[in-house]
Amino acid sequence: MIETLISFSYLAAAACFVLALKWMSAVPTARRGVLVGVAGMALAVAGTLLNPEILSYRWIAVAFVVGTIIGVPMAMMPMTAVPQRTALSHAFGALAAALVGTAEFYLRTPHLSRFTMGALCLEVLLGTLTFTASLMAFGKLQEILPTRPIVYRFQNVLNLSIFALALGLGVYLVLQPAETWPMPVMLGLALVFGVLLIIPIGGADMPTVISLLNSYAGLSAAAMGFVLDNKLLIVAGSLDGSSGLILSIIMCKAMNRSFTNVLFGAFGQVQAQAAAATQKTVRSATPEEAASILESANGVMIVPGYGMAVAQAQHKVRELTDILTRKGVNVRFAIHPVAGRMPGHMNVLLAEADIAYDRLLEMEDANSELPQTDVALVIGANDVTNPAARHDKGSPVYGMPILDVDKARTVMVIKRSMNPGFAGIDNPLYTLDKTLMLFGDARAFVGHLVRELSGNSEGH
Ligand code: NAP
Repeated sequence: MIETLISFSYLAAAACFVLALKWMSAVPTARRGVLVGVAGMALAVAGTLLNPEILSYRWIAVAFVVGTIIGVPMAMMPMTAVPQRTALSHAFGALAAALVGTAEFYLRTPHLSRFTMGALCLEVLLGTLTFTASLMAFGKLQEILPTRPIVYRFQNVLNLSIFALALGLGVYLVLQPAETWPMPVMLGLALVFGVLLIIPIGGADMPTVISLLNSYAGLSAAAMGFVLDNKLLIVAGSLDGSSGLILSIIMCKAMNRSFTNVLFGAFGQVQAQAAAATQKTVRSATPEEAASILESANGVMIVPGYGMAVAQAQHKVRELTDILTRKGVNVRFAIHPVAGRMPGHMNVLLAEADIAYDRLLEMEDANSELPQTDVALVIGANDVTNPAARHDKGSPVYGMPILDVDKARTVMVIKRSMNPGFAGIDNPLYTLDKTLMLFGDARAFVGHLVRELSGNSEGH
């Protein structure tokens, strides 16, 4: 009876996870996707707690309290810190898989089949390296560690040798399950490999790396499913592993980078050199001038970016959208797949401010509309609008698909200074004749525009 109940809860949980992924991939159903994912996880935990092999709940209760103490503050981290928050949760997930694998090894060896030992070694290897790699990624994103890539001679050879050695020990354990010494050595090598893997990667590539680490943590969990003969872990781990991989591929494509380039390219170095580029003269405009240009436009395409997220300007942007719409202006949003610091960053912020989904255009659709658009209003976006990506072969962003805002009749850019964006390079968009720079904090400037447009400019 209990077994049937457990199987049923696992089946329902697996169905919830599949639905969650499906619904989370579209903006209108994303909230439902998150809820059904949470329900699936609750079912999975409840089903596991029913397991008759559990003799005492005391340690489980302790783990529950510790997990809650760590988890609740993590949930409160701001949206802009989601990449590092995700890195931390991968680190914990991977550590759990590695610890379970190690415990199973010492409990069951040498009575493990070759297949189970193979899965166990994979679980421990991936879990351990993902643990240290994710902690390093967290440190870089949080700027606790230096974000620039650290490179030295024979780095890749050294890294790959360490990984090959750890893998070799895993193979040895499969062949000689009675030996126990290779396990701690393999663990140690994997821990070191995780650290070395991240050292040469710049902070700029960390979000992509985190998505890849997500994939490793998922694969480790799937391998754990084979070791524990737990079908739900196999399903959930595989979903996690494949979705992480797909997301990394999407991110790489949106930045025109390859996996090898992300993992071994030391992108941040190019960044540092390019940042020293010269500055040219630009035209700037006041909020009053900008408001009157917006007011007389037929169509405005807003291009949000990381700066809108940092300034938390989304609610003001919504007010601006409402006022312009009331004045008969057709306001839409152009969403670049890697605008901000994680995929879907802009969608989440705009949804939070209740901006209607049907105003949001994906890159391809936005690009076919931009040449007919009167005003492109760029709010805290930079790299994703850089026309050098189209024509400057020497640019580090060359080949990256961008939003062609320079094709709109007038371009207005809200940012605080002429400082570069994430890729650390100049943006020739700012020196075009059709471009007006609107210098200021995104929230304050959009607030100004709102006041100007509503005919109430007192108080500033
Ligand atoms: P971006 O190129 O990083 O530029 C953001 C701009 O916002 C900066 O130029 C900055 O200029 C401005 N800004 C910052 N704070 C502001 C504030 N309070 N008010 C107004 N402006 C502010 O951003 P993006 O165009 O969104 O491009 C995203 C970048 O991240 C791309 O290079 C992409 O490849 C990379 N990336 C994204 C992901 C992802 O999944 N989304 C993953 C990996 C990498 P000032 O300092 O002058 O204000």
